[in-house]
Amino acid sequence: MNIVYANEQGDLFDSDRLIAAGRSGADVTEIEKDEWIPLPKGASMVMLPGTRALGLDQHGHVKAMPTDFHAVGALLPQSYTRLFLPAFANASEQPLPLFGYTAVGFEDGRFYVAAHQTDEPSVWDPSQYDDQSLVDKNVKAMQNTHPQNRLYEHLSTCALYYECVTSRNTFFGRQEGALPVSGTCNAGCIGCISEQPEDSGFPSPQTRLTIRPTVEEMVDLMVTHLQSAGPNGIISFGQGCEGEPMLRGREIAQAITKTREHIETGYINANTNAGMTENVIRVVDAGLDLMRVSTISARHDHYDAYYRPRGYTIDDVRRSAKYASEHGVIVSLNYLVFPGVSDREEEIEAMIDFINDTGVRLVQMRNLNIDPDYYLSLIPSKSSERYGMLGLMEILQKECPELRIGSYTHTPDWYR
Ligand code: SF4
Repeated sequence: MNIVYANEQGDLFDSDRLIAAGRSGADVTEIEKDEWIPLPKGASMVMLPGTRALGLDQHGHVKAMPTDFHAVGALLPQSYTRLFLPAFANASEQPLPLFGYTAVGFEDGRFYVAAHQTDEPSVWDPSQYDDQSLVDKNVKAMQNTHPQNRLYEHLSTCALYYECVTSRNTFFGRQEGALPVSGTCNAGCIGCISEQPEDSGFPSPQTRLTIRPTVEEMVDLMVTHLQSAGPNGIISFGQGCEGEPMLRGREIAQAITKTREHIETGYINANTNAGMTENVIRVVDAGLDLMRVSTISARHDHYDAYYRPRGYTIDDVRRSAKYASEHGVIVSLNYLVFPGVSDREEEIEAMIDFINDTGVRLVQMRNLNIDPDYYLSLIPSKSSERYGMLGLMEILQKECPELRIGSYTHTPDWYR
C-alpha cells in the first residue's frame, strides 16, 4: 500500500517510496491488510496543512517524506468507523480544523482508507439531496406554509448552506428530522462544533442557534414532520447547531405531551449530554421514545478533560441513561472514538460497566473530529494495553450481550 501525500497546492500523489502507515494515538504503526477498505462513496480527502507525511520503509522503520510534502487524510461519510489516524508529524503551532482525519493509502489504481463499515450508509448518504433546486423548492415551500415558525427560518441555513442531512430531511418530511431548541450548554467540549472560544485556534464549523423556540413552534414542527415521515419517522432534539437541549427540559416535556395529542405514530428522540438528570426524567416521563447520550468516556478524568462539564458529572449521565432505559426509552451512545485512546483497556472496562449498568442498546461509533495532537495534549495520558478499534467493537459486543454497534439512531423495529 503506497503512501499518499500532497504538495503545497494540495495536489495528491502516491509513491512506493514508503508504505502507507497510520497513527494510533501519537504512535505511527503498520496497518494490517484487513484494516484497509476501498475509499467509500461520499468520502473526501484533505491535506493536513503544516504537517510532514510519514510512512514505513521496507524494514518497518518510520520515515518522513521531504518537508514540502504534507500528510493527507480522508473524511469518512456516516456509517464508517475510522481505525487509524493519518501518519503525520505536525510542524506548525496552528491546530488543524475540526475534522475526523483517517489514514489513506493507494494500491492498484485506487485509494484505500483504514476504516470499517458499521452501518448501512444509504440512509445518511448526502447525495440523496444532490438536486439543489429541489432542496431550494422544498425549503421555500415549507417556509411559506409555516411563515410564523422561526425554526424553519433557522433550519433553512442548515439545509441550504451547511448541507445538513437532518435539516434537509425536515424540509422533505422524511426519516430523521431536526429540532434544535437551545442556544446554551452546560458543557464546554474541547471540540464543540457549534461554539469555540476565541483562543481555541480553530473555528466551530456551525453557528449556534440564536432564537428561543416556543413550545408552539416545537409542536408545529414535530407534528408536521411526524405526519409526513410516517410510522418510522423520527424527530430529534439536540442538533449540531445548538447547545444542550435538556436545558429546556420543561418546554420539551410540554411539547412532547401536546404533540402526542395530535399524532401517536413516529418516534421522538433526544440527542443530549444527559447531564441534567431532573430534566431528562421530565422528558422521559412526558413520552420520549429514543435517547442518544453523547460521551467520549465512562471515566471521570477523561470525560471531565474533554467535556469540561458545568454542574454535573459522568455519574449524572449514568443516572439519566439508567432512568430512561428503565422507563422504556431505547438508549444509545453517541460514542466519540479515537484510535489509541478509546481502545485502551482502562477505557474499555469502564465503558463495558457503563453500558451493562445503564441498559444502553446501541453504541453509535462517532469518529472524533479534532486535531489529534491538540486533543492528546489535553486529556490524561494513557498507558494501558491497546486492542485496536476493531478489537474495541468486538469486545463491547462480547461483554455487553444486548448491545448493537452502529452509526446512527434506529427505530425500535431495527433491534428486533
Ligand atoms: S455538549 Fe454539545 S453543544 Fe455542549 S459543548 Fe459539548 S458539543 Fe458543544
